[in-house]
Amino acid sequence: MYRLFLKTHNKGLKYLCKSEQEEWKKYLGSGVYWKRYLKIYGKGIETKLLFETNDLEEFKKVCLAESKERNIVESEDYANLIMENGVDGGGGGDYWLGKGGEDHPLFGRKRSDLSERNVENNPMNNLETRAKLSEKNKGKHEIVTCPHCGKSGGSRAMKRHHFDNCKEKNNG
Ligand SMILES: [Zn+2]
Repeated sequence: MYRLFLKTHNKGLKYLCKSEQEEWKKYLGSGVYWKRYLKIYGKGIETKLLFETNDLEEFKKVCLAESKERNIVESEDYANLIMENGVDGGGGGDYWLGKGGEDHPLFGRKRSDLSERNVENNPMNNLETRAKLSEKNKGKHEIVTCPHCGKSGGSRAMKRHHFDNCKEKNNG
C-alpha cells in the first residue's frame, strides 16, 4: 500500500511524506531539513493520513498534486525541499538553501553566503573602493567640450569621437 501523509510538528512545521511500509506511522521522514529540525526541536509530531492506494500511477499523481497545491517546496511552513513525486526519497542536497530566510538555524550557515552581496571581500563593502567607483561613475556623466569642434557631451562618448579622435582636429 502506498501512503501519503502529512506530519505536523508541535512547533508548527509540516512535512509531506510517503511510505510503502505498514509501519508508516513510525516512519519519521527522510528529508534533510526535516531530520535536522527534529534533532533540534524533538519528535513531537502528529501524523495524518492524506491518501492511500495500491495504484502507483494514481499515487504519483496525488503526490504531485498535493505537493503543488500546498506549495511544499517554496512554503516556509513545510520542511520539504523537493516535490514529493511518490517515488523518490525526500532528501535533497543543497535545496535547503532555498528555505529558512537569511540565517539558517538548522545549518549554521547563511543562505546568503552564496550571494555576491555578502561575500566578505566584495569590493562594494569597502568604503574606499566605493568612493573610487562613484568618482568613476561621476566621470561618465561629466559634460566636456571638444577643443577642436566645440561640441559638448558626456565625457565617455566625447573622448571616443572627439578630442584626439576628433574629425576637426587635423582640419585645423
Ligand atoms: Zn570634436
